[in-house]
Amino acid sequence: MSDSTTPAPQTSPAPRTGRRSAIRPAGGQTIFSRMTALAAETGALNLGQGFPDADGPEAVLAAARQAIADGANQYPPARGERTLLEAIAAHQHHWYGLEVSPDTDVLVTVGATEALASAILAFVEPGDEVVVFEPTYDSYAADIARAGGVRRTVPLRFPDFALDEDALAAAFSERTALVLLNTPHNPTGKVFTAAECATIAEHAARHDAVVISDEVYEHLAFAPHEHMPFASTPGMPERTLTISSGGKTFSTTGWKIGWVTGPADLVAAVASVKQFLTFASGTPLQHGIAAGLCLPDAFFAEQRAEMAARSALLVDGLTRAGFDAVAPQGGYFVLADVAPLGVDDAAEFALRLPTEAGVVAIPASVFCDDPDASGMTSVLRFAFCKQRSVIDAAIERLVDTYGRSARTT
Ligand SMILES: *Cc1c(COP(=O)(O)O)cnc(C)c1O
Repeated sequence: MSDSTTPAPQTSPAPRTGRRSAIRPAGGQTIFSRMTALAAETGALNLGQGFPDADGPEAVLAAARQAIADGANQYPPARGERTLLEAIAAHQHHWYGLEVSPDTDVLVTVGATEALASAILAFVEPGDEVVVFEPTYDSYAADIARAGGVRRTVPLRFPDFALDEDALAAAFSERTALVLLNTPHNPTGKVFTAAECATIAEHAARHDAVVISDEVYEHLAFAPHEHMPFASTPGMPERTLTISSGGKTFSTTGWKIGWVTGPADLVAAVASVKQFLTFASGTPLQHGIAAGLCLPDAFFAEQRAEMAARSALLVDGLTRAGFDAVAPQGGYFVLADVAPLGVDDAAEFALRLPTEAGVVAIPASVFCDDPDASGMTSVLRFAFCKQRSVIDAAIERLVDTYGRSARTT
């Protein structure tokens, strides 16, 4: 039914999308949100997204509560609360012998995510190239695209993820502005060795590139592997920004307290971007994380041993279910090839896994531009930052569904 007296609707101009729309994930949702939603819908056990399902140390939680009670509820200083700046500097010295000034060499951020975004926006101009290792943590690609940069990928190939020196050399050019490293690495669990860091350092120095080293799993390198900050590689302190976060170490991923440390001039450049993204955040939570960083060494050792045990549990279970699982050297995740089950597309398999077996995992191909280059097409990522009872239950479901006897009966 038309009403001729009603004026024709004004055609509003199409919303501006622009090149930035290109980096929005399909459907406006990341794979992690999508798979977590699928877990909730199907009642599947969620070994997809990497968040712990138990609270961190009581001392950390109590310090944040106390800070609220004590009135630490307004904007913190732009660089971060003094107590946290000092705790971060002391932590870098205590664990790694790195000299970090709490006055000039530290910036507290909204998780490692904002530290990464600010640093990439600070150092990447349109057309600049960024060397990244693939599979790559998902926010890196979005940040680089937003800065107008170009990714040059170095594949870490399943199942040993060794550094391919030829591919590394080929990824550098006169346009290289930045190298983006992650150790211990998500999702492969690789801990870069001192020799590998030295090789990367040589190229970074020759091309005068800044190195951003994402070390959010610094306390989760499993024995005998040891985490070594990239900044402790000879010649690298002056060109390296180290990023970490309290989320993974203290099981407080929802707090989003991260930080960046490095030479004063590089940190100042990151701070100049960060100040107009969020300025500052999480005053009382900063006190909580400061308390965490000051916990005795035994806390970190126990955490590391517990996570190593859970990873071994999951690797063993996946193996019994018929997956080709690789023991990680650190982090929160196990990668497992599903090719032995006769599946060649892990992305398709991941979508039916929740209903078929009652478990959620993430296809490793989502971390890749070219999944074949790193052998990730048939690989799934499982998180073990979950309670042992949850891991046990997930294994039971997977063994029942895919284990040898399940397949031969
Ligand atoms: C979890 C994670 C981050 C994000 O850390 P937040 O502190 O939660 O922002 C960054 N990098 C890697 C490799 C991660 O796994």
